[in-house]
Amino acid sequence: MIRQKIVAGNWKMNGSKESISLLINGLLEMEGSNSEVVVAPSFPYLSQVESLVSGSAIVLAAQNISQEVKGAFTGEVSASMLGDFGVKYVLLGHSERRSLYNEEDEIVASKVKLALEFGLTPMLCVGETLAEREACKTLEVCERQIQAVIDVVGIAAFDNLVIAYEPVWAIGTGLSASAEQAQDVHKAIRAFLAQSSESVSQKVQILYGGSVKASTSSALFKMPDVDGALVGGASLDAKEFIAIVKAAG
Ligand code: PEP
Repeated sequence: MIRQKIVAGNWKMNGSKESISLLINGLLEMEGSNSEVVVAPSFPYLSQVESLVSGSAIVLAAQNISQEVKGAFTGEVSASMLGDFGVKYVLLGHSERRSLYNEEDEIVASKVKLALEFGLTPMLCVGETLAEREACKTLEVCERQIQAVIDVVGIAAFDNLVIAYEPVWAIGTGLSASAEQAQDVHKAIRAFLAQSSESVSQKVQILYGGSVKASTSSALFKMPDVDGALVGGASLDAKEFIAIVKAAG
């Protein structure tokens, strides 16, 4: 099955009106691509980015949603609000959310459910720490994180979400997994999903994330089970990000 590649930039808590305008204007110079190009700004800049990318093929993502639908939850942002800004994707289960904000598997699963109910496409991030990899628990961890979501939304819902395999040891460390290491885990995740649904396992796009750079991306994208990349640091540099998009084809 041919799966469209996705190259998504997670800007994390970076940027200003000025830098974002420069970054998006740089990205708009990109030639057309067969891949889907996605950017995930912080909440205050969604409106600005929505206007800047309007009429282009660049797609908007958000970095988080509240577990609640609406009401007295000071400082939170709901899934329904994101729809107002043309947001298509939402990152959920990012390792920074899991480790710094105690988002356990159950919380991630309930956010996935809510996102789907509000028509957003979750980018479900999974991945092991260095200690877990060294203890040969990579697949156990990824499968547990995915199973927690299957338990809440069912396997059929995976037709409407994207998985991002992001080994924690590779995020923001400059230490990317090799293309072969990524392929091995992506293939195993697909095999795990196939135990519940063969068609879902073939359809679901699995992105790799963790210190992706232009120089390492072409080897990654040649792997049969790598359907794109979730890019942090390198997505803040228009030239570098465009080079990654080009490598995706
Ligand atoms: C990320 O934040 O999802 C990420 C992969 O970051 P980086 O590319 O900087 O490792």
